[in-house]
Amino acid sequence: MLEIKNLHARIAEDGTEIIRGLNLTVKAGEVAAIMGPNGSGKSTLSYILAGREDYEVTEGDILYNGQSILEMDPAERAVSGIFLAFQYPMEIPGVATMEFLKVAMNEQRKARGEEPLKISEFIAKVKQASGTLNMDMGMLKRPLNVGFSGGEKKRAEILQMKLLQPKLCVLDETDSGLDIDALKIVADGVNSLRSPDRAFLVITHYQRLLEHIVPDSVHVLSRGQVVKSGDKSLALELEANGYAGIIGEAA
Ligand code: ADP
Ligand code: MG
Ligand code: MG
Repeated sequence: MLEIKNLHARIAEDGTEIIRGLNLTVKAGEVAAIMGPNGSGKSTLSYILAGREDYEVTEGDILYNGQSILEMDPAERAVSGIFLAFQYPMEIPGVATMEFLKVAMNEQRKARGEEPLKISEFIAKVKQASGTLNMDMGMLKRPLNVGFSGGEKKRAEILQMKLLQPKLCVLDETDSGLDIDALKIVADGVNSLRSPDRAFLVITHYQRLLEHIVPDSVHVLSRGQVVKSGDKSLALELEANGYAGIIGEAA
């Protein structure tokens, strides 16, 4: 589903190379964890997948279902089924969460050549999905993420995933700011959405989140490269021994 081949990318503004020959393959149905020390390029990788213009790809390719996404803008990536959840989700003042969701769902339908949802269908879908997340409809009248607590932002993020049913979900959690309740919201949400035709890239500095989302594969990032891949036991090894050993080995 996702194939990143010898990716090199730099900061557009000053040309600093951050991603330095990164290779990664994630299959449909797989939950891949990306771990790595602070500054290794984890968030940069997620921004590049999102198509942010602050970064330039100078070499290599990113294939999604066999097709390069490098020429696609962020909106095209989103309607094609790529969903990104960031550590600091964007606040959208002046747009009620409900309205945001409706536009996002209808954009996706339009891209597939489908009619916009009837308002009653839309409300029914939102009620159903928000109910499973213990979200009340009052919250959905507020502007997206504006003044939301950490847990509310995570609920809103999972709600978007439940409604948009993306195929490739990238979560840059950097769990540092998440309390155990917010962690569980994310983990339960991800686990409920696991399916053979969907893949997840769960980016995390700590092993903690992976106690709740058990990954199929674990990849360690250092200085903009994947330096080691393994199964879930690699995350435990990192928790016990830290990053220094593995990164030293790779160097
Ligand atoms: P991680 O998420 O693994 O902690 P980041 O991707 O945030 O790492 O950052 C990787 C490196 O790139 C860091 O040294 C960071 O300071 C640098 N970096 C990333 N984006 C920018 C930017 N827009 N401007 C300057 N430095 C950046
Ligand atoms: Mg960081
Ligand atoms: Mg980060």
